[in-house]
Amino acid sequence: MMDTLQRFIFENAAVRGELVEISETWKQIQARKDYPAPVRTLLGELLAAAALLTANLKFKGMMILQMHGDGPVKLLVIECDSDLRLRATAKLAADAVIPEGAGLNQLVNAHGQGRFVITLDPADKLPGQQPYQGIVPLDGESVAIAIENYMLRSEQLDTKLWLAADENVARGLLLQKLPRDGGTGTQVADDLEAWNHTVVLASTLRKEEMLSTDINTLLRRLFWEETIRVFEPAHPSFHCSCSREKVGNMLIMLGKPEIDAALDDLGKLSINCDFCGQHYEFDKVDCAQLFATDNARDALQQAGSSRH
Ligand SMILES: [Zn+2]
Repeated sequence: MMDTLQRFIFENAAVRGELVEISETWKQIQARKDYPAPVRTLLGELLAAAALLTANLKFKGMMILQMHGDGPVKLLVIECDSDLRLRATAKLAADAVIPEGAGLNQLVNAHGQGRFVITLDPADKLPGQQPYQGIVPLDGESVAIAIENYMLRSEQLDTKLWLAADENVARGLLLQKLPRDGGTGTQVADDLEAWNHTVVLASTLRKEEMLSTDINTLLRRLFWEETIRVFEPAHPSFHCSCSREKVGNMLIMLGKPEIDAALDDLGKLSINCDFCGQHYEFDKVDCAQLFATDNARDALQQAGSSRH
C-alpha cells in the first residue's frame, strides 16, 4: 500500500476535503525509536495532520508542527515539505511515566503550559525574510481539536479534522469551508447548511473505522450521496534533511570554547540525528577544520563588505 493523499471537492457545496493514509513513512519513523503507545498515537495523528495542512496550502517550502509539552512529553515535532516529504520525532521527559490510554492533555499539557507552534518556512525566502511562526496555547483535548482551534484563530477558516493512528497507519480527513466573496444572504445560508451537513456526515467516523479502512472506501462510505470531484493523488514519503554540514554548522553555533571543552572531556563528539538516527562524529581535527573554515568565511565576508 502506497502512502496517499487524496484531495477532493464537493460539486454541490462550497467545501473542500482531503484524506490521507501514511503507512510506509510511518513505519520508517517508528523504526528509529520505540514510542509508548499513547505517544505513538499523538505523533501519528500529528503526522497525518501535517500532511493534510501542507497539501491544503498553496505554498512552496516547509511546514513544521511542534507541540511543546509541560508533562511527560516534552516535544512532538513533524516537518513536512510541499512535496509531502515528512520526518517526525518525540522527546519524553527523563523520568516520564506514560499512563496507558493517556491523551493530549495528560501527556503534553499537564499543567496548562503546553504550546502549539506552526512554522511556515518558504523555499523562496527574500534576503532577510524570517519564516512565519504562530505560537498559541495548546487548546483542545485532542490533536484534531487543537489544530481546528488554531486554524479558526489564525486563518478564520472553518476547518474540521478527524485523525487516527496506531502502529500500522496514520489516517486523517480534513474538511474546509470555502470562503465566498460577497454572495446573497440566501447563498451564505446555503453554504453554511451544506458545510454543516458535510461535517455531520464525517462525524459518523470512528477511530476504529479510520484505522481499518482505506481512504477510497472511507470517501465512498461517508459521502456516497454527494457528488465529489477527486484530484490526482499525492504520495507522502519519509525524508530526513540532516547532513554532516548542518551538524557542523550547529557545532559552530555552540562556539569554540564549548566545543573545545567537550573535546577535552570526550575526545570526539558523537551526534545522532533525532529524526533518522544517522550518526555523525567530529574529532579534534574535524572541529579545528570547522572553525578554520568558519573564520575564513567571516574574513571573506568582511573583505567583501569593505569593498563597498
Ligand atoms: Zn536525519
